[in-house]
Amino acid sequence: AFSLEHISLLPADPLFGLNARYNADKRSPKVSLGIGAYRDSNGKPWILPSVKKAEELLVKDPSYNHEYLPISGLAEFTQAAAKVILGNDSIAIKEKRVLSIQSLSGTGALHFAGIFLKKFYKNTKETDGIPTVYVSSPTWGNHFQIFQSAGLKTATYPYWNNDTKKIDLKGFINTINDAPKGSIFLLHACAHNPTGLDPTHEQWLQILEAIKVNGHFSLFDSAYQGFTSGSLEEDAWAVRKAVELKLPLLICQSFAKNCGMYGERVGCVHIVLTEISEDLNAAILSQLNRIIRSEISNPPAYGAKVVSKILNNPELRSQWEQDLKTMSTRIIKMRYALRDELVALKTPGNWDHIVNQQGMFSFTALSAEEVKRLEEKHAVYLVGTGRASIAGLNEHNVKFVAEAIHEVVC
Ligand code: PMP
Repeated sequence: AFSLEHISLLPADPLFGLNARYNADKRSPKVSLGIGAYRDSNGKPWILPSVKKAEELLVKDPSYNHEYLPISGLAEFTQAAAKVILGNDSIAIKEKRVLSIQSLSGTGALHFAGIFLKKFYKNTKETDGIPTVYVSSPTWGNHFQIFQSAGLKTATYPYWNNDTKKIDLKGFINTINDAPKGSIFLLHACAHNPTGLDPTHEQWLQILEAIKVNGHFSLFDSAYQGFTSGSLEEDAWAVRKAVELKLPLLICQSFAKNCGMYGERVGCVHIVLTEISEDLNAAILSQLNRIIRSEISNPPAYGAKVVSKILNNPELRSQWEQDLKTMSTRIIKMRYALRDELVALKTPGNWDHIVNQQGMFSFTALSAEEVKRLEEKHAVYLVGTGRASIAGLNEHNVKFVAEAIHEVVC
């Protein structure tokens, strides 16, 4: 008989739940270091000047309308987006080994990738035939549920060494070597979430080499390109190296952070093949299109049109690259400001990891109890794991945050 009574209540999503508590908090001052969204030096959301200009041009264009996009998205956007991650002179693009489709931002890209791999990725080394995706420990929490809901198995590889506050490279490589051949490894292209720790070029070479030797498949999650170092090229180094090494791979690309287009859901999936075959390209694309058609019919148009304008217009493109520098520079400055305040306060412990980490987040190494006290006593909000979104800091609140951290640590 029909009944819904067996449905149990789930706890609030850790991140969006935190945000709701912050919004409901009547205290002043209060500081949100939770959700990973850029804030300007007054703590306000920032519409990138390049985006503002692109939006103006877009609505002025006489051909502007709200028609459906093709199933695989706006081609002028997806093709330009492929060049952003793979490089203007990418040999893989020239040889037509890259297949690109539009997705609902990075999350939607990971979802399509998961569905696609579940359906088509053959790994005869797995006893039940279901591929395992290896993700870093820790990783962005959503990775687990995205892949599990696509029907894939998940496992972890060591990444953060809590004693050294460095990457556990040995543990990582050992897991790559021990995993069944042909496993799937999820790699954060840059700005590792939540640790803010990226492998050096030398470490990347070791990681990619081990992946190659073991015949694994690389699934790159690229959610922070250009946002991390300020350079699109530097932040794509690992992906481009993997392509150069002829690793079979798939890229999930988000424009949420680097264009500040969070709510517009702009992203892509790019599959980079190692062999040139027009027939295979057409077959894969047809299957991807069926997945897209059955799930979202066709992707949202507005954000893709805005980002496409930026990528395809040289003036806007150079404004965007400047905007990336504005964001990344401010975040790096705030890392130093927080570290320096803590040092000035003589807060026990070493805080250099805050300036050594990269991207949106710092893995502060504050305990769950300290994080709880920060919220309850000081109205400073960060995720229970001790991850702080550095973008939430500014000149006006960094001292207040440092004093709060000092109080909970002492
Ligand atoms: N991957 C990682 C590692 C992320 O941090 C995020 C955003 N927090 C995403 C993917 C996806 O974000 P979105 O769906 O907003 O593009």
